[in-house]
Amino acid sequence: MNTENVIIIGAGPCGLAAGIALQRQGYDPLIIEKRNVVHAISHYPLHQTFFSSSEKLEIGGYPFPSTERKPKRHEALVYYRQVAAKSGLRIHSYEQVENVEKESGYFAVETKPWNQPKTSYHAKKIVVATGYFDHPNIMNIPGEDYPHVFHYFRESHPYFQKKVTVIGGKNSAVDTALALESAGAFVTVLYRGSEFSNAVKPWILPDFYSLVRHKKVDMVYEAQVQEITPAHVWYEKNGQSCSVPSDFVFAMTGYHPDHSFLENMGVEVEADTGRPVYDPMTMETNEPGIYIAGVLAAGNDANEIFIENGRHHGDRIASSIKKSSCTDS
Ligand code: FAD
Ligand code: NAP
Repeated sequence: MNTENVIIIGAGPCGLAAGIALQRQGYDPLIIEKRNVVHAISHYPLHQTFFSSSEKLEIGGYPFPSTERKPKRHEALVYYRQVAAKSGLRIHSYEQVENVEKESGYFAVETKPWNQPKTSYHAKKIVVATGYFDHPNIMNIPGEDYPHVFHYFRESHPYFQKKVTVIGGKNSAVDTALALESAGAFVTVLYRGSEFSNAVKPWILPDFYSLVRHKKVDMVYEAQVQEITPAHVWYEKNGQSCSVPSDFVFAMTGYHPDHSFLENMGVEVEADTGRPVYDPMTMETNEPGIYIAGVLAAGNDANEIFIENGRHHGDRIASSIKKSSCTDS
């Protein structure tokens, strides 16, 4: 049996930051990651520019130099890989945590490395930093499963001179529409709201509104999407059924944490917000010994915790674990 003091589940920016914070308190945590480090960032649109400046994405005090003030996806990948290597964190990549169960005095952690049989560990403390990016918000409408419907946008080239409908009205929807239009796609955006909220970064909106004014992008507010067929998206507006011809559909409807993963280990999750029950001073959940770090803590609200603030959760966790080990001994 592998016995660990602390296991961190997820090597996103916040899981890595928690690992470094624990190292600085004298621990040698094991991070278990089902893909590879910062998998969510590697899955961003290929040419994504962050809205944060590079110093707000720094973890563990390692400087993040970037060409522009706001770095691009590939610069962040280099940065976080370097931090992972330089910090000497122990990271088991391509190993998925399947189950965490409380036993007397420790947690039993069951994992599946991608090319080996299942394995298990004992750990005194668990930090869950599994993010939300693997779980898109599903609209539950007919046709959502067609192969021309996507919840992730990677790059615009394949959509040159094609009719593309983007669903949603926040940062991903606006960014995706801008990228598609610039590559010569014919873009329609369907948004259920009557105007964009202030969650949308203000500097991307002038370009977008200009495209709408010049009829280069069709923008439909108060559009309730009903069904996707091979060649159309059907929606309801003001009680009328309407359709827009669509070769491809990007449903940029956001993402949510895997609530059942937490609930199965005894962490309570608020039904209406998807927010786990935890103490914000320590990040410890209602299940003593299980902590959360990163965007997971915000539940279903993707616009409350980012790398910018989630990267600091590790310090609270490390102090709390240190304090509890002093009390235990
Ligand atoms: P994640 O980065 O999602 O990491 C979670 C990790 O856990 C993943 O690597 C995943 O593979 C792993 N995992 C999940 N389940 C398991 C399991 N069962 N076993 C093992 N491993 C598991 N934030 C900013 O602060 N500034 C920005 O400019 C910014 N730009 C963004 C642009 C885009 C397009 C998007 C989509 C998001 C952006 N964000 C930005 C948000 C940012 O990406 C998230 O806040 C950040 O990734 C959260 O980090 P995390 O460590 O909490 O989770
Ligand atoms: P999001 O902020 O959760 O927005 C999802 C959008 O989809 C909202 O407009 C929402 O409508 C709509 N929606 C949700 N469910 C729907 C449904 N069932 N039917 C129709 N519409 C639905 O997700 P996101 O835009 O993907 O952003 C995710 C995270 O990535 C955020 O933290 C964001 O800041 C970040 N991001 C950053 C950048 C950048 O740095 N440049 C770019 C993209 C994303 P309502 O508005 O009515 O809720």
